[in-house]
Amino acid sequence: TTFQELGLNPLLLSALEQAGYTTPTPIQAQAIPAALQGRDILGIAQTGTGKTAAFALPILHRLAEMGGHPPRGGCRVLVLSPTRELASQIAESFKTYGRHMGYSVATVFGGVGHVPQQRALARGVDVLVATPGRLMDHMGTKHARLDHTQILVLDEADQMLDQGFLPAIRKIVATVPKERRTLFFSATMPPDIARLAADMLIDPVRVEV
Ligand code: AMP
Repeated sequence: TTFQELGLNPLLLSALEQAGYTTPTPIQAQAIPAALQGRDILGIAQTGTGKTAAFALPILHRLAEMGGHPPRGGCRVLVLSPTRELASQIAESFKTYGRHMGYSVATVFGGVGHVPQQRALARGVDVLVATPGRLMDHMGTKHARLDHTQILVLDEADQMLDQGFLPAIRKIVATVPKERRTLFFSATMPPDIARLAADMLIDPVRVEV
């Protein structure tokens, strides 16, 4: 399979060529077509498999298809990540793959000032990558609202549970509209994770590498 055969937007294909990607990884070859069809995804994959592009590419493709603007105080796409390091990497990936598309990408995580994050949220962002704790802070102070979020991603769900983020995740998910796409990734699928996935996903395609 090639990225072209997956039917991705030409602007993405050009960014991938510049990044030196020639062939989709197995998780990408499985997840991208299903996500482009608008299906929810349950992905069981470790870091290093190319899982970030497996969700970022179809999401950027769909943003271009849908058109529209970033909602003030919120985002169109929300990615939840367990750590600031992973959140930064995911945001960089969205910027790299979306370099010809002009979408705004912002991060929200702890250990840095609230004010720059509040300003970015006030303007509205296309893609917000957040750790659950700091996002909950911004929701509590009314700096973040998720009622215009169209696509929700959980990355490394098992790590987020290990860090005690389950209550925060449940609260966050409850404020995202039910009419959304959800992409859920975890390296492992213990019962707690399987239950959370079952509560969040609608008729998902299961992809596993
Ligand atoms: P991830 O599993 O998302 O952390 O990605 C692991 C690494 O593989 C990252 O450095 C990506 O830039 C790289 N990568 C992802 N997909 C591809 C691909 N199709 N071809 C070459 N490198 C890739």
